[in-house]
Amino acid sequence: MATTAQGEAGAVSRVNLLGMSRARLEAYLAGLGEPAFRARQIMQWIHQQGVDDFDAMTNIGKGLRARLQQQAEIRPPEILSQKDSADGTRKWALRVDGGGLVEAVLIPERGRATLCVSSQVGCALDCSFCSTGKQGFQRDLSAAEIIGQVWLAIRAGDGFPTTERDRVVTNVVMMGMGEPLLNFESVVEAMELMLDDLAYGLSRRRVTLSTSGVVPALDRLTTPVSLAVSLHAPNDALRNELVPVNRRYPIAELLAACHRYLDRQADRNRVVTIEYTLIEGVNDSVEQARELAELLRTLPCKINLIPFNPFPLSDYRRPGKAAISRFWKVLADAGYVATVRTPRGDDIDAACGQLVGQVADRTQRSRRHRERAQAVQVLPAGTARARGRGARG
Ligand code: SAH
Ligand code: SF4
Repeated sequence: MATTAQGEAGAVSRVNLLGMSRARLEAYLAGLGEPAFRARQIMQWIHQQGVDDFDAMTNIGKGLRARLQQQAEIRPPEILSQKDSADGTRKWALRVDGGGLVEAVLIPERGRATLCVSSQVGCALDCSFCSTGKQGFQRDLSAAEIIGQVWLAIRAGDGFPTTERDRVVTNVVMMGMGEPLLNFESVVEAMELMLDDLAYGLSRRRVTLSTSGVVPALDRLTTPVSLAVSLHAPNDALRNELVPVNRRYPIAELLAACHRYLDRQADRNRVVTIEYTLIEGVNDSVEQARELAELLRTLPCKINLIPFNPFPLSDYRRPGKAAISRFWKVLADAGYVATVRTPRGDDIDAACGQLVGQVADRTQRSRRHRERAQAVQVLPAGTARARGRGARG
């Protein structure tokens, strides 16, 4: 175990530099009497070279290296398992401090690879069609645990790239487990690293935050990333049932916040992505498509239709192809850019909303977690205990 800052019972912990934004790392090093350019060097070692050992930082003096070795660390979550889908999708189960489990999914497509990143262990918002919601909320992830998913995915792939073309991760979407806007500070710090040229240097169009609509937090979001909003219903009566946070922040308030978000963007061509999970017999009728088209009339947006991904313990069903096409056509005819998301990684439960995997096990897990005061680690049945660093599927 690491040793520096003395805890009450002599327990000690090191400062994890992995999740520190440029400003925070500069401040930390200033506290050690070091100039700002040291922070920039260390950031590049961590995020562009994938280094987690201070001794490998050859342009840093020995004295500082020794001090960092003593009081700091570069530590991502631990990989419990890595699964590869027949379609190339790759899913990691990651263990975070305290015993929680989260997942990250890498989805390669022609010319790009999108990493779907988690922001919380579980989620408190309990949307009726989402398996993460079923497990309840356990805790927020730290910035190190969020950016650590990007760091690990690159390291487990072809490694840290030297050219733009070699990028292992070209896009990041905050669409894994959890509601990112309810873990605001850590999510923002991690996204700053995604955008920072000394870290991952992704363009603002390639980093997307997805929210179910926590309006006050959305109004605080000034990090220049793309915004996706999980709408799923064309009226409040239905949305109250599917996305319970709607009772607090109804559709009109959410759409007004989307307008304010767009007004804050320097780029006038920006749009909001509206996510709409299609559930058979619930929100997939032609009338509902028309209502949706009417509702979004004044919002610059594109619409992403997500056919419901089934998971155990859910009675909902995915609509058939014809119903999906009918819904899509109403939107297209009304002049919207609408896309239908192809489910990926179905064979490894990596699609949207399936990320908990074995729901029954996890539910049991969170119950035990609540019952016992301290964290208990129980692996879902069949989870491989591979430390996947550098592992290839
Ligand atoms: N909490 C955030 C981000 C995580 S969920 C949010 O809700 O936006 C990412 C997307 O997957 C959301 O649009 C969510 O509504 C959708 N989703 C959740 N469960 C799903 C399921 N079973 N099938 C299809 N989409 C689902
Ligand atoms: Fe939470 Fe998003 Fe799932 Fe709703 S859809 S329960 S907000 S993770």
